[in-house]
Amino acid sequence: MKYTIGIDLGGTNIVAGLVNEKGEIEEKIAAKTQPEKGFDFVTDTMARLVKELFTRAALTPAEVSSIGIGSPGTSDKSAGTIVFSNNLNWHDAPLVATMKEKTGIDTYIANDADCAALGEFAVGAGEKYNSMVMITIGTGVGSGVVLDGKLFAPAGSSATELGHTTMITGGEACTCGRKGCVEAYASFSALIRDGNRAADAHPESMLAELRAKGQALNGKNIFDCAKEGDAVAKALVDRFIDFMGQFFVNVANSFGVKVIVVGGGISKEGQWLADQLREIVVREMYAGERFAPAIVMATLGNDAGVIGAAMLEQYQ
Ligand SMILES: [Zn+2]
Repeated sequence: MKYTIGIDLGGTNIVAGLVNEKGEIEEKIAAKTQPEKGFDFVTDTMARLVKELFTRAALTPAEVSSIGIGSPGTSDKSAGTIVFSNNLNWHDAPLVATMKEKTGIDTYIANDADCAALGEFAVGAGEKYNSMVMITIGTGVGSGVVLDGKLFAPAGSSATELGHTTMITGGEACTCGRKGCVEAYASFSALIRDGNRAADAHPESMLAELRAKGQALNGKNIFDCAKEGDAVAKALVDRFIDFMGQFFVNVANSFGVKVIVVGGGISKEGQWLADQLREIVVREMYAGERFAPAIVMATLGNDAGVIGAAMLEQYQ
């Protein structure tokens, strides 16, 4: 059997997995990224993890056809470089050439959100579809697009950043420097910002009570307060779901895909949330119900990035 290695390179941790032809992880190991130690240190760590996988699985390099790396930031796959990553503090980092030199194995790179999308497309929630968009909602809003069986990441271009399209012109400040991005309305950071404002304005709300008990607001406890019937939290969550829904209508109108896969912390809300989002998309999508995409929650969790990275060679 031929194997590939997928590496999920994050700002805090590096996870490397040996993946078989069925898209299953057979071995998985992790190390701290320590980006402050520089590009050479981080690529040495990745090369060491690759060798460790060979040892654990008793494989020779000839049995592994490629390494795929999902990296934060903007990658240029034709140049084989990470053009810019603020998490890693890399500028024009020659990742493909360096990993090939340190391991002897052909290496492919892509944006981390694209890799997660590819993993879900190949063996997860998007498996039975030919085209999909994955939207990851956590601290930020990430996106990955697969069209007609191929990762939409044309050579020489950066990945899609649908979270940084405009929701409200001149609206809330976004981490990217613009105002009014989707991320400034439909991320957990945005929900927590609004939750704290609401708690300030409504000391009688459950949100204010939680804070008074010393608990910081987060995505989960704001949703929980809404489900328990707190009117202030419910208004916030309803508005948040509407922002998500409006964004999903934009995604459906843009790409015409048959499924939108929801990943990140929000996916724990499950079918209850998927049904509400689908209702908004069916009601408002230009092409109408017949063409409205299914809305499903991601199924691979944190493994999606490793599995998708391992499949980069196949989906070039
Ligand atoms: Zn933005």
